[in-house]
Amino acid sequence: MAEECIFCRIIAGEIPADIVFQDEDFLAFRDIMPKAPTHVLIIPKTHITSVAELTEEQQRLAGRLIMIAKNLAKKEGIARKGYRLVVNCGPEGGQLVPHLHLHLLGGRQMDARLG
Ligand code: AMP
Repeated sequence: MAEECIFCRIIAGEIPADIVFQDEDFLAFRDIMPKAPTHVLIIPKTHITSVAELTEEQQRLAGRLIMIAKNLAKKEGIARKGYRLVVNCGPEGGQLVPHLHLHLLGGRQMDARLG
């Protein structure tokens, strides 16, 4: 756990969150400032700062993030119409929280232009 990391503190139960899924290695909770009717963040319980820090050995973990998002999209009822998965990396990538996370966004039409 990284002491100053807000997502590590959510994992530790020190900060409340609206948790929608968890297992031994991952946690998913609703974004506090949702950008869509469904906006869930999926995170590994291990503190990994960003995609830039991922190692070859963590490939399975990265793949699992997407599978969890897929399953949650179904559970949230947005799978049929479609949804967007986003991973911001670093300051220019728009990453505000330095703990790897996948955004699951859905429930409205997404702008086809990115950025
Ligand atoms: P990013 O810009 O990709 O780093 O996204 C970070 C996301 O975390 C933003 O969408 C924030 O609204 C969200 N966020 C920050 N603090 C919390 C929190 N305590 N609980 C839930 N979501 C949060």
